[in-house]
Amino acid sequence: MQKCLVLNTLPLTEIKRAKLRETYGSFLQMTQKCFALVETSKVKSSTELHRLTYREHRKRFGVAAQLVCEARRYAWGVRKTANRINYVIVRFDRHLFSLKTTRRGNPALSVRANSERVGLPIAQDGGWRRLQTHLGAGWEISSVIMKFNLKFLVALRKDDPQKRESPNVLGVDINAGSVAVTIRSAKGKVLKQLYLGQDLARMQAKFERRRAKLQAHRDTHSQSKAGKKLKRFSRRQRNYTRTRCWQLVGELVKLAKRFDARIAIERLKYLRKRRGEWGKRSRKKVNRIPYGFLRFALEHKAVQEGITIETVSARYTSQTCPRCDLVNKANRRNFHYFKCIRCGFEANADRVASLNICRRAGERMVTYAQVPVVGGAVNRRVLSDDGGRRHLNHLEGQAPSFRAG
Ligand SMILES: [Zn+2]
Repeated sequence: MQKCLVLNTLPLTEIKRAKLRETYGSFLQMTQKCFALVETSKVKSSTELHRLTYREHRKRFGVAAQLVCEARRYAWGVRKTANRINYVIVRFDRHLFSLKTTRRGNPALSVRANSERVGLPIAQDGGWRRLQTHLGAGWEISSVIMKFNLKFLVALRKDDPQKRESPNVLGVDINAGSVAVTIRSAKGKVLKQLYLGQDLARMQAKFERRRAKLQAHRDTHSQSKAGKKLKRFSRRQRNYTRTRCWQLVGELVKLAKRFDARIAIERLKYLRKRRGEWGKRSRKKVNRIPYGFLRFALEHKAVQEGITIETVSARYTSQTCPRCDLVNKANRRNFHYFKCIRCGFEANADRVASLNICRRAGERMVTYAQVPVVGGAVNRRVLSDDGGRRHLNHLEGQAPSFRAG
């Protein structure tokens, strides 16, 4: 696991700034030199580049050996993506920086500039406190980064926590209206079922209405400020969505920890609907869900907390009856309502989907693609463990149901 945090320094004296600027300048020049060499001649490897430049750079700039190597690595790293190097970030590795305490007890960052070490007083602000909490939680500083404006960042590293297979499963089904969650025990009992993030969908709709208004205004009034406002508005919408996504994921991870569950989600599929598929309104509803970002956030957070994420097949999760396993399109009566045409089991469609995701994670079942299409058994699920027959008593108080064929 890696992370980057801001480390603010107090205002620096002109002498110190000059020293840092000098270091930055040398680093930039070394990088550009290396980059030019890679561009013009056929340098085959980073090692070869090192042999060609190291001695000259050491002599000419008089900087620390690590910095020379870092500049070469930087140039080598961007050789395929950049056309030229205009600015760089200077990375001080653990030989070139240290955190110190001044005689008065204030924190300071000491970095090796070109010829000597420079002590930089650290601002004891929110960034510093955040760094302290991370250090307390077992993170280690792997390097310190200086940007072109002489601002600093710290790169942190921590070993991934040990993952273990939790017995219970938390199934997540991400929908247009909400995130449906089902927690199911290893024995098949439903421990908890709930919906999260309805407000996100509502707010998205609200944002969109406002945007449509602004857009219309912009298009009809040539002198209006609607265009400018629209831009600011888009940023606000994105910030809101991202924040809510992180909060949602936080809640999910918390739940998973509380119930000692691993998280199951659907394997990524093609979700976006285009013109011609569905009606305009339901298409809009589905397309505004931040699937990708939610997944990214979930995976990120789960790694930090040592929770396993399992992906299951996404096929027919909202058309499969959790009681009798019948797969039929007609089971889903409308957007929200599920009613099995065979056994009459009824529930919210999202709830059914999240329950099915749990079951798939629990059973590691055969996917439908592998089921041979034969006569009347087309829609029957094939279970590998007990010859296709088992008691479906995973829903409390419901008797095993009748199965045809
Ligand atoms: Zn059924």
